[in-house]
Amino acid sequence: MQLPHTFPGTCDLSVVIPVYNEEAGLDALIARVTASAGAIFGDRFELVLINDGSKDGSWDAICQHAARDPRIVAINLSRNHGHQLALTAGLNHVRGDLIFVLDADLQDPPELLGPMLERVREGYDVVYGQRIKRHGETAFKRGTAAAFYRMLGSMVDTYIPRDTGDFRLMTRRVVEQLNAMPERYRFIRGLVSWVGFNQIAFPYERDARFAGETNYPLRKMIALAVDAVTSFSTVPLRFASHLGMVFGVGGILALGWIGWVWLQGGTVEGWASLAALILIMGSVQLLVLGVFGEYLGRMYMEGKRRPLFIIAEVRRHPVSLDAKPGGAEGTIEPELREGLHVAG
Ligand code: UDP
Ligand code: MG
Repeated sequence: MQLPHTFPGTCDLSVVIPVYNEEAGLDALIARVTASAGAIFGDRFELVLINDGSKDGSWDAICQHAARDPRIVAINLSRNHGHQLALTAGLNHVRGDLIFVLDADLQDPPELLGPMLERVREGYDVVYGQRIKRHGETAFKRGTAAAFYRMLGSMVDTYIPRDTGDFRLMTRRVVEQLNAMPERYRFIRGLVSWVGFNQIAFPYERDARFAGETNYPLRKMIALAVDAVTSFSTVPLRFASHLGMVFGVGGILALGWIGWVWLQGGTVEGWASLAALILIMGSVQLLVLGVFGEYLGRMYMEGKRRPLFIIAEVRRHPVSLDAKPGGAEGTIEPELREGLHVAG
């Protein structure tokens, strides 16, 4: 397949899956993904599994699969880095012309690769899964997710489609742009949208988790939401001036009222209202400071320029896809190649 990209890949497809404590569902995942991708691409695809510091036996299971199936690339991160950075590590290692990203819990059906591929063949660079139904997720999760996408939409200039996850099929040129983005706080679905080219939604029904439980408790969901807002919008920084104006107008009105009462020969009583006002003003000022602090802290962390992720080990079968006849040679940077541990 001839696709527009700057550097051709050395295989047709890379499937990228971050894995965190997914031991229970891993066999089913690998079986379904290799069946689905194999039916279309035969041996000309790779399955990149990134172990994000799992505490269960996920890494051992991945290694066993990688030893048996030369199409599997196993990447072990030095510790848990979080979903978005694990995915970033995987995207940094892909060799395919097309990149298919999905979750390890089989919530995103791997069998949709075929229909999504049709859209790429029509000329789209990004085909992103958009959930029309979510099975097995609580009303609370659905509600908060919906509210979050609405709020985000009202604050950012980049169009970030709602009800999307990281489930998507992308061309290599999109992933190359993603890999060129140095930022630490990565809200990948937003970054993909920001890249542009032709993107299209692919409606699908999200399945329930195959095994295990969600690794996204409320705390992590809020952190992701804050990452999303701060990386795509500076609107919250303007709250301070808006609030300042509202309180200023309120103060002037109150002054007018006090003056009016004084002209009538009276005085306005009430230390209680005064105390309440001081507390409200104090809280507003602290809140605004907190928002500023959020942005400042992110600038500080970005300023350190630490690597986004640390790889402990990469296992690739010696019969590498690089040797594929007709495939372009040497698209993996030499320094990356040196860091590879190839298991026999
Ligand atoms: N994940 C990860 N690192 C983490 C948390 C999650 O790599 O710290 C992976 C996880 O294995 C899965 C994907 O990210 O493949 C999405 O996680 P999960 O299914 O728990 O999130 P949910 O679907 O509940 O939002
Ligand atoms: Mg999930």
